[in-house]
Order: sequence, then structure tokens, then C-alpha cells
Amino acid sequence: MELAECPYNAVISRDQMSQSAQGLLIVISGPSGVGKDTVLRRLFELAPHLKYSVSYTTRPPRPGEVDGHSYTFVSEPEFLRLIEQKEFLEWAKVYDHYYGTSRRRVEEALNRGEDIILKIDVQGASFVRKRKPDGLFIFITPPSTQELLSRLTGRNTESPTALAVRQKEALIELGLAKDYEHVVCNRDVDETAREILAMIAAEHERRKTRV
Ligand code: 5GP
Repeated sequence: MELAECPYNAVISRDQMSQSAQGLLIVISGPSGVGKDTVLRRLFELAPHLKYSVSYTTRPPRPGEVDGHSYTFVSEPEFLRLIEQKEFLEWAKVYDHYYGTSRRRVEEALNRGEDIILKIDVQGASFVRKRKPDGLFIFITPPSTQELLSRLTGRNTESPTALAVRQKEALIELGLAKDYEHVVCNRDVDETAREILAMIAAEHERRKTRV
């Protein structure tokens, strides 16, 4: 295919994708090590108008992670206080740490007509599905289980114990892809990002034609 023929080669503006008053809630899940962060980075390069829902977490920052950008890093008591205050659209304990999506950040973006991406685990996604069934739910799978396990090992960001937990959980999580309306296999980061953009564009089209 000639490059010019590909509809998603250029950076995509908000007007090209989103015309509706209410933005689109996009939930992206996938096992640890599948490459969600890399795919999302490419997605935001291709479509800078998309917003990212910065989650709260009690996990300590990894090297290079910036507070308020990767996550909002909080202590456990602070997280529990936020639960009490009903700050979360959903929250879950993943690998011994709490993670939660800010209801306020999401609602504000949607009300401004912005499309917002939540990168959350399968438990969180099932809560969001109950509260926001009209969201777009996408699951990213690896090309093979073997590749997923070796990516996790090669990442070198966890202790051996934490790594073993992540590997076990990743395999369980992989089995839950069937609960998602859209599944995309991450063979190539750029292709995966473009497939997700196509899904978002198709969802906008579907909404425009809905009476
Ligand atoms: P990590 O520690 O590798 O950044 O994330 C671990 C897992 O937590 C990933 O599956 C990620 O999608 C999930 N996660 C990140 N933020 C949230 C959140 O706000 N809510 C839920 N339920 N899961 C999250």
C-alpha cells in the first residue's frame, strides 16, 4: 500500500475524529509486558488531541516516571481517603498496590467533548463497563504467551518475587481478553496504535449515525 493511501498516516486532528458533544471513553487493558505504554506513546504522537486519564497509585515511581504525568503517586492512607471521598470512577488492588481512576478528571474531559483513554486492568475495566457501558473497550494481546513472558523478564523493573507475581497474573489476565469488544494483537507498535485509532474513528462514525 502506498503511504498516501493509508488513512492514519498523518497526525489526526480532533475535528477529524470527534464531532460529538460528549467525548468518548476509551478503556485499554492488557497483561503486564504486552507493551501498552509504548503503544499509547505512539497513539498520542499520532493523535495528540486524545487525553490520558492519569491514575492515582500507591506504587512507588519507577525510574523516569513523573508524578502527575505517569501517575499521581500517593500514600496508602491518602488513597484510602480518596476512596472514602468517592473520588474514583473505579479502583483496584493490582500486584499489591492500589490503582484508581479519577472520576472528576474523566467526567471533566468527557464533558469538554474530549476523548479520554484509561489504561486500566481487567477488574477496573469491568467496573467502568457497568458505569459507562457506552465506552470503547479494547484489549491488547501479545503475539504469543512466550513473547509476553520474555518481555516481562527482560523489562528488569521488578524484583524476582514481583516478577513471578506479574507473570502469573499476566497469564490470568490474558484469558480475560474474551470479555472485551475489541482485541488487538501487538505485533508492531505502530500498526497496533493505528488499529486503535481506526477503532476510535469507527466508534465516532457509529455514534454519528445513531439516532
Ligand atoms: P503498572 O504498575 O505496570 O504501571 O500497572 C500495573 C497494572 O495496573 C496495569 O495493568 C495497569 O493497566 C493497571 N492500572 C493502572 N492504572 C490503573 C487504574 O487507575 N485502575 C486500575 N484498575 N488499574 C490500573
